Amino acid sequence: MPSLAPLRSFALAALNLLYPPRCAACLARLPAPGDFCPPCAAQLQPIDGPHCRTCSEPFSGRLAAPFACPNCRGQSFAFDCALSAWRSSGPLREAIHRFKYGRHLHLRLPLAHKLRDALADPRFPPAPAANWFLVPVPLHPRRLRERRFNQSAELALTLSKLTGLPCRHLLRRTRYTSSQAALNRPERLRNLAGAFSLKPRTPLPPHAGFLLVDDVFTTGSTAHECAAVLKKAGAGPVIVLTVARG
Ligand SMILES: [Zn+2]
Ligand SMILES: [Zn+2]
Repeated sequence: MPSLAPLRSFALAALNLLYPPRCAACLARLPAPGDFCPPCAAQLQPIDGPHCRTCSEPFSGRLAAPFACPNCRGQSFAFDCALSAWRSSGPLREAIHRFKYGRHLHLRLPLAHKLRDALADPRFPPAPAANWFLVPVPLHPRRLRERRFNQSAELALTLSKLTGLPCRHLLRRTRYTSSQAALNRPERLRNLAGAFSLKPRTPLPPHAGFLLVDDVFTTGSTAHECAAVLKKAGAGPVIVLTVARG
């Protein structure tokens, strides 16, 4: 059978001509293959310095011991830790916003690249669990109709293609909740209590660890509620994986 590779590269070249690759944040044409234009890429903020061992909140300064940030101090989260390689600021925040609210679905690929960066964190994988599964944070069906797609599911499925890690839609949102954006942490927790459950007839894979996928980690309330459902069902390690840390 003849190779399809030349045809594929021709199709890709034609597509690039019709739709030249653009920066995920500012829409400028990209001079070379990539996700962000050079000025936007220069503004992305990696989380590569000292950070909270639980939620990855960066700490500006030097640290001698593992650091628990004010967000986590005195908290007990149901997840083991939350990993993000990038801050939610500037061009990345802009790209996430356009993806989620502007329905720019194609941005799932550049954002999944940023999500994949979090897997390089030395906290992953922790010792136990043989197999890891990606689990998207679910949307309520009503929110899904409003937004037309679940951003977490799109990111998890794209990351699954990039890494080979299987994706399982284990959770569902059983209660429609108002937007979390304007709420503080106690209000968020109250708003979300009992909002998630395990999908019926969906047993957890045994001896597994779970990577809970979302776009942004802010207070951790959503991730906590989802992780609590998985842990209650007997899950081993649950690690939160987000494109960015708010
Ligand atoms: Zn740009
Ligand atoms: Zn923290």
